Amino acid sequence: MVVVMAAEATASEVDHVVNVVQEAGGEAFVSRGEFAAIIGLSGDIERFAATLNLPSLPGVADVVRTSVPYKLVSREHRHERSVIRVAGVPIGPDTLTVIAGPCAVETPEQTLAAARMARAAGASLLRGGAFKQRTSPYAFQGLGEVGLKILADVRAETGLPVVTEVVDQRDVDLVTTYADMLQVGARNMQNFPLLQAVGAAGKPVMLKRGLSATIEEWLMAAEYIAQRGNLDIVLCERGIRTFESATRNTLDISAVPIAQRLSHLPVIVDPSHSGGRRDLVLPLSRAAIAVGADGIIVDVHPHPETARCDGPQALIEQDLRELASVAHHLSPLVGRTLTPAPAPGPR
Ligand code: PEP
Ligand code: MN
Repeated sequence: MVVVMAAEATASEVDHVVNVVQEAGGEAFVSRGEFAAIIGLSGDIERFAATLNLPSLPGVADVVRTSVPYKLVSREHRHERSVIRVAGVPIGPDTLTVIAGPCAVETPEQTLAAARMARAAGASLLRGGAFKQRTSPYAFQGLGEVGLKILADVRAETGLPVVTEVVDQRDVDLVTTYADMLQVGARNMQNFPLLQAVGAAGKPVMLKRGLSATIEEWLMAAEYIAQRGNLDIVLCERGIRTFESATRNTLDISAVPIAQRLSHLPVIVDPSHSGGRRDLVLPLSRAAIAVGADGIIVDVHPHPETARCDGPQALIEQDLRELASVAHHLSPLVGRTLTPAPAPGPR
């Protein structure tokens, strides 16, 4: 059970709820998010619910009682599926949102060219990593703040809001000043201090599923973000590790409808990091749209042969028209509108 305090609740109202619960023999864990305090309760939940009348205590906005361990992100808590807005661009049940861009920001020219490719492919958001989390310590780790500045310049030029990864809790403030949406990568899905920090950052978060994470673990990771007061979370299925070696990862397509049934959060698919092969990106994109994904996120690169990261999975110029056509033609068949790109120019 979780008690959500009103934004204007005072510290003494929070203390009062804690005291009431402790006097009844329970435990209360207070988490102070940017917008509101959230109190997690454990102990004899049935008795708390029956006798304490928590919703009537001063300062209490909501009492969330669900049978699942992830509370705030669960469909039991919020029946309607959520729409998350990234600088005004919607991701949700009525739309299909395409996010595209380079795996990593390398140069201003490469990033601008990739952003133009993204627009041509029907994308409304630009992806691109300035901080990269790489399996090898010898691989390109990203340009850091220089890369963030390039992304901001390219956003100003193309109008595409920016989705970019934050890999370290210490960089959350920095990345938040540039990003429109923060990405938490697969390898960081259970980096709990990072999840809490992005939960307090006040920007939407895209949470990738961990390489070996169950759907429940993925939703619990989202709960860490939500528990800090940020429910603007988009889940991203990016393939999981299996015995199969023909693909980089195995796209778990059934995770999309399952996560959508268990959680009200939007679920998108990354066909680039799951297949790891350019020739699979379009077929997997079709599968993702057909299964009901709320969006896709794809790698594009003007010169994949020289890419410093993930060149073999990046779409090239010749693929863009087909991706745009897939997104345009399939979205109405699944009852969705393709999210248009914001107009170029200053916001
Ligand atoms: C990425 O999207 O750039 C990335 C590193 O993906 P993942 O965390 O899913 O491996
Ligand atoms: Mn990549």
